[in-house]
Amino acid sequence: MAPWPSLPKGDRQFPAPVFDDELLRQPHEPNIPIHQRTTPPNPQKDSPLFNGLIPPEIRNEIFSYALTETTSTDPSALYPEHISRPDYTASTSICTALLQTCRLIYLETYRLPALNREHVFWHERGPPSPADSYIDVEEGYFSRMPSWQLDLVTEIHLFTQMYWLEQSFEDFCRRSFNAKVEKLKITIRRGDWWWNESNEPLFIHPKIDSPGFDEMVDSIRYDRAAARAGKPLQSFEDGSWGSAFKLLPSLKELEIEFETSDDKSEELENIVDWAKTWKFPMKEGTVLSTEGCEEENWSWESTVSYWSENCPYCGVSSRATCDFTQVPGGEANPGCVEMRARMARGEGPTLHVRSLGWKVVEDVKVEDL
Ligand SMILES: [Zn+2]
Repeated sequence: MAPWPSLPKGDRQFPAPVFDDELLRQPHEPNIPIHQRTTPPNPQKDSPLFNGLIPPEIRNEIFSYALTETTSTDPSALYPEHISRPDYTASTSICTALLQTCRLIYLETYRLPALNREHVFWHERGPPSPADSYIDVEEGYFSRMPSWQLDLVTEIHLFTQMYWLEQSFEDFCRRSFNAKVEKLKITIRRGDWWWNESNEPLFIHPKIDSPGFDEMVDSIRYDRAAARAGKPLQSFEDGSWGSAFKLLPSLKELEIEFETSDDKSEELENIVDWAKTWKFPMKEGTVLSTEGCEEENWSWESTVSYWSENCPYCGVSSRATCDFTQVPGGEANPGCVEMRARMARGEGPTLHVRSLGWKVVEDVKVEDL
């Protein structure tokens, strides 16, 4: 190996160190977080923010606005087309320089970065990972936070493919970084359903371990009949993802977004109707219930990569060979024609998002008749 090249003597231009006298006079408390140190802050009476000219509630708004998470406008920060979606178009950041201005401002604002940032995880189907790997998975991300900061994490948003929900969600719920999480949001995107690549029928089942489409159909039928007869609905098996919420000690609210494309909106409606009856078991006789919670519906226009590989209208196995005529009588299928026209314009299908909310309530037992 070649030795390190040495700099020519006399040519080293290191800047002279600048010492902050004020900092040097303060007692050295290296391992104590700044907000727990005993050093009193300068009251900053020369500043309009602290001398009464600007009222405290306005000051709080200014600080909160300055520490808002913002989406980068740099073209290199844009998410790839197949990941980009409303509110998630490029990487985001919070500029924390304000915290370094003085101790008094630090003390008023140090909680805001953890509170204002959305703690969002993509589970192998998201924007490219940053160079320091594992920062985009929960364990790596939260391991960088000291415990006082972790205590401020009260909301988490998960984009989840079905395999992750079924195989990893329970393990996620057991992790200690969730100790203070009061609200969990789960988004199931158009491409997150099982076998979306081949345009298989949508299926999801929170009540049994390793479910399939047929089990879902049976359970929907069972629960509908039970509801009509005033009997208990199918319960949540151990090992099912729906039985894992009770492992989150502080959870009070859940939101699930279900997304699919135009051609599958009827299938989704069927699932959402069933989902409204899900009562996820929690601790001490409580459940997460949709009763009295808000519902939201919204749509957006996606891009070409959101089309299924199969033609969703005539069902041929590659949309490139769709010949528009797979309907009785040989007439052009209007769905196929529309898809071709949209693809030619660089457009994807219209995507529909159905959002349901759950809150923790007392479980009212339905007795067997
Ligand atoms: Zn077709």
